[in-house]
Amino acid sequence: MRKLKALFLLPVLGMLACSEDPISEIDVTTPNSTTEVFNQNLTEKAYPKQLGTTSQVYFAGQKLPVEEIKGSYVYQGDIILPKDMTNIQPKKLVYQEGETPQKSTGRTSGLWTDNTIYFQVDSDLSNQERVYDAIKHWESNTSLDFVERSGESDYIYFTSGAGCASYIGKIGGRQEITLASGCSTGNTIHEIGHAVGLWHEQSRVDRDRHVNILYENIESGREHNFETYEEMGYDGEEFTTDLDFNSIMMYSSYSFSKNGQPTIVRNNGSAYSVQRNKLSSGDVKGIESMYPSSSAGTEKPTEETYLNGEYYTVSGLTVLRYNDSWYYGSRFGWRKVKLVDSNWYWV
Ligand SMILES: [Zn+2]
Repeated sequence: MRKLKALFLLPVLGMLACSEDPISEIDVTTPNSTTEVFNQNLTEKAYPKQLGTTSQVYFAGQKLPVEEIKGSYVYQGDIILPKDMTNIQPKKLVYQEGETPQKSTGRTSGLWTDNTIYFQVDSDLSNQERVYDAIKHWESNTSLDFVERSGESDYIYFTSGAGCASYIGKIGGRQEITLASGCSTGNTIHEIGHAVGLWHEQSRVDRDRHVNILYENIESGREHNFETYEEMGYDGEEFTTDLDFNSIMMYSSYSFSKNGQPTIVRNNGSAYSVQRNKLSSGDVKGIESMYPSSSAGTEKPTEETYLNGEYYTVSGLTVLRYNDSWYYGSRFGWRKVKLVDSNWYWV
């Protein structure tokens, strides 16, 4: 699992669903396995029936391929990027001392405060039990509290939509989680995972050590759904040492397949099953790291947590930690930079 660093923020993950009801099941021949049930379409999508216009926007300082559908930028199928946090032009990455930063396009404040998430359910939403059941699951497995909104300005609004979709982390104001009638409790758990700051498990930086992406089987125009967050310029960290195939944020082997053949396989070439029944132990561990239950763990990470000699992507910039300082390798060579309020400045 991957999460935002508290200071700058992060990526990924998590949710869960009820076992019985993936958003839709595709009848595809299961490759040579008699023991495993392959979940071929446990991939949440904001607009399952539409292929949007692919365009490039800048988010967190990096160029990001997105699909534009119905006025929204859709990333990795079910993640909506707020338009006011994206730019058509590249955002300046490093500022001069005294220069006023542009509005941030990164996830600089995506965590909910005090482990409390306010929400409201659209009275017209069908099958509202899935929302309450998903929330109950989150509350019984994490330190997060979900409180029905009474005037709070930042909250999740559960409403109907073409598919299952969410923003990543708290974006401020009312943010929707859309649920089509086919979205199960498990899918809802997954979407809540996005809303609290989780990205998809297969986008881990180290995922190539665990899976192979079979681009030849991916629907044309959907390849961008398989990039890692590092490639996208997100910062974050992995909570578990290995890719968690059991994460509720893990795509299935057949996500975005154009031909019924797998798009993601284990390194040994085999397909795998995923689940949308519950948060995995890795999901729970990641959430605990992002939202510690005890006050002892609430301290935000400090720069001392960075290792000298390692590269990190922080606030959209890939920087080298060296001698307890940050360096950015521009075309003019290495220059020292510093991070102030999630913006980079030349030193
Ligand atoms: Zn998702």
